[in-house]
Amino acid sequence: MHSRHLDIKIPDDMRDAVISIIKRFRDRGYECYLIGGSVRDLILGNEIYDYDFATDALPEHIRRLFRKTIPTGIKHGTVSVLVDDHQFEITTYRSDGVYLDGRHPASVSYSAELRVDVERRDFTINGLAYDPLSGDVMDYVGGLRDIEDKIIRTIGDPVLRFMEDGLRPVRACRFAAKLNFAIDEDTFRAIPNTLDIVRKVSKERVRDELIKILESKKPSVGIEYLRTSGLLELFLPELAECHAISQNKYHIYDIYYHSIYSCDAAPKEDPMIRLAALLHDIGKVPTKQPGDDGDYTFYNHEVIGAKIAKKIMKRLKFSNEQIDAVNILILNHMFHYTDEWTDGAVRRFIRKVGLENIDNLFTLRMADRKGNGARKGLPAPIEHLKKRIERVIEQENAFSVRDLNINGYIIMDEFGLKQGPLIGKILNELLELVLDNPVLNERNVLIGRAREILERRKAENGD
Ligand code: ATP
Ligand code: MG
Repeated sequence: MHSRHLDIKIPDDMRDAVISIIKRFRDRGYECYLIGGSVRDLILGNEIYDYDFATDALPEHIRRLFRKTIPTGIKHGTVSVLVDDHQFEITTYRSDGVYLDGRHPASVSYSAELRVDVERRDFTINGLAYDPLSGDVMDYVGGLRDIEDKIIRTIGDPVLRFMEDGLRPVRACRFAAKLNFAIDEDTFRAIPNTLDIVRKVSKERVRDELIKILESKKPSVGIEYLRTSGLLELFLPELAECHAISQNKYHIYDIYYHSIYSCDAAPKEDPMIRLAALLHDIGKVPTKQPGDDGDYTFYNHEVIGAKIAKKIMKRLKFSNEQIDAVNILILNHMFHYTDEWTDGAVRRFIRKVGLENIDNLFTLRMADRKGNGARKGLPAPIEHLKKRIERVIEQENAFSVRDLNINGYIIMDEFGLKQGPLIGKILNELLELVLDNPVLNERNVLIGRAREILERRKAENGD
């Protein structure tokens, strides 16, 4: 027998909808089970994002059983149905034809047997089917045992299964991170032999898996599997290179381990901060130099690192918005706040980083510190800087040229100047003055200062 009775609780808000779908199929003489990730996560007590169903009913039959259906993946036998405002995917049992390109099956064929459907799936823990009416879990592939042992194992021969679809090795690392499971030895050993197939997978699919790793409880588990299997070298060679590159007396970890532990220490709710934490020191490899005292220095690594991160993210097809978010965090992660900062310095810091990015930058800095391993506790100066920033924002001060109580037209008028780069230069100098001393932000005062600036420039270079 392949079934085992388990006491599984479906959350109250979904229970009625799930049961009603299964009953509808049963009443018409069809089979229908909850399947895949949802069964795995129900057993583990994890949050469930999608409830997926498998049935022996053909897609056209599924569509007749429900009032609202969407043919989301009809080519592969998947129909979405809407029940109680929730959307569910229901897929006809199928086996996949041959994989010619290492990415997609050339064809799919429907089957009347659950077992056939289970065998096309990737890992044993994803191959369980659950009947909530009887409480039986159907397990043809040893998935229950592997959940108990916390093991990721392919269904069938790992080399063959990985050759079919090159995304599966990356998924193995993703599930290891998400569930904090180990990858079975044979499954793991198959990965280095299938890298040529993995290379064919679209960057978008890899990016999506990487984001899921970043959203898991401990990304370091997945990233370490990516590295030791050779996958990291394929997708993030710049990070793989950080391995075994030592730092200096302030660090106990090499650049790579510091990076992945910093990533763990950033909040899982924000994958872009996690990515920034993972890549924040990536510029340390090309900037490492012995300093005067014999210890290593990494001057300018934040600037070089921000550029490298941009290149990586472009390659992996992240959006421009995501690239900018990570870039600004890496570029600014090296600020050194001391009590000596003037209010003007605090304002310049706000302007450089952008008010909307400051909280994230502090979050990154905390993660960086936690990932250091040697330093403990919260960095007090950051708490202090936070308060200073709040105070500065409260005093309504000028932050950009647009907030000056003067503009380019007034300056052109006053001094008989034509439009051109000089006007912008004068406005920027005025802004610097106002940032240091907000009381200067008065029209007449600014005109006076503009005159001084003009005279100085004339004396300097005959502008
Ligand atoms: P998540 O919680 O991330 O959604 P999941 O297990 O539901 O995890 P999905 O990518 O949503 O993962 O896929 C649903 C199910 O489809 C999987 O549990 C697995 O049974 C099957 N599956 C998905 N992708 C593949 C693949 N590349 N090869 C084989 N089977 C797959
Ligand atoms: Mg899913």
